[in-house]
Amino acid sequence: MYSTALAKRPTSVMSAIRRPPRVSSSLFVLALAFAAFPPVSAFAASNQIDPRAQAAPSALPEPALPDRGPASASSAASGAEASSAAPSAADTLTGDEDCGALETARRLKAKLSYDPLTGYGVFERPELRASFALGVPWIVLDEDTSLKVAAPRPGSDGPVFPASTVVMLQKAFASAEAAKPPHYTVAAIVIDPGHGGKDPGTTGEHIIHGKRLVVVEKNITLDVGLKVYAALKRRFPDRRILITRTGDTYPTLEQRVAMANSVELTDNEAVIYVSIHANASFNKTARGFEVWYLDPNYRRTLISSPSTRGSAREITPILNAMLEEEFTTESIILAKNISSGLQTQIGSESPNRGIRPEEWFVVRNARMPAVLVETGFVTNPDEAVLLSREDYLRRIADGIYNGIVDFVAYFESMKGAPPR
Ligand SMILES: [Zn+2]
Repeated sequence: MYSTALAKRPTSVMSAIRRPPRVSSSLFVLALAFAAFPPVSAFAASNQIDPRAQAAPSALPEPALPDRGPASASSAASGAEASSAAPSAADTLTGDEDCGALETARRLKAKLSYDPLTGYGVFERPELRASFALGVPWIVLDEDTSLKVAAPRPGSDGPVFPASTVVMLQKAFASAEAAKPPHYTVAAIVIDPGHGGKDPGTTGEHIIHGKRLVVVEKNITLDVGLKVYAALKRRFPDRRILITRTGDTYPTLEQRVAMANSVELTDNEAVIYVSIHANASFNKTARGFEVWYLDPNYRRTLISSPSTRGSAREITPILNAMLEEEFTTESIILAKNISSGLQTQIGSESPNRGIRPEEWFVVRNARMPAVLVETGFVTNPDEAVLLSREDYLRRIADGIYNGIVDFVAYFESMKGAPPR
């Protein structure tokens, strides 16, 4: 069960977006012919024959030639082919009654476009297009899948769909609805100003133009963190924006992570975690900003091993690896967004040291992309001066904020399998 899930699991968001091709090879020619038909909008003006529609029959295989409309009789060839190609009663679902096109559209809750001159039509919902043609025993779904059906026939008031065809259309629309990619939301954002209280973090002491300058990491992180927090609250009033401390206090690492983990999430919601720090080095020339994400090679135990038994113990590392791989993807994208936000704001004064993997704390699950921002080196005299300036901290906060906003937009436009 788990190995199957692993094999099918997308390795990245991009691969999750791709849908597997579903064209049956025997139906490929017909599907192509349908795809070459005029788009739905061309059907709207039914008094005009679209020149492409007139050309279309020559591109169709003989059996697929549609009836030319209610007024014309079916040709012997297409009529014979349609009846021989029609599904047998054994493999056809049956419904209660044959339906006109409008009644079929009503049952499908779909928009109907139909051109009586060409006999082509489309039932359409956001998640699926089902194209049909009079006398043709196939329905083409989204131009890539063909469904064998009893052919719609001309009626006094437009096409009439056999009851079995109506049922098959209903099933096709129902499964498209069920397969519709969920909409993802960043429900909560946790801002974590690093250190605080009894833990000052790193400290830089410098003599600048004869004056003593002391910069302390916990003060920098709180100042930047509060600015990012306030900006996010303004930007996203309907989301949970949290901050792990608002004063000179010392929440433990466990308490900080517990705050993020306490956020209740539905299946398609995520919480993102941004920890803010300042750097230090024995090398006083070291300077620049960087963004860390969790090391993909760092294997954590996300599932409590002591409580698992037997085979469950064996699959635990697999599950952990799967979860890790996917939320690392999101963390890297969040890190890149914040890094480029900082580049825009302070890149001319502080070198961009890039994004890097690090195994710096434990988060709960795949739905928590998490990064750590190193805003600069308190041990570098030039950067210590910058980090003591209110306007510079404001720009750092703007850069982090812009990166988060970009990530939220990216995450919420994402389609495909959920990141867990
Ligand atoms: Zn730190």
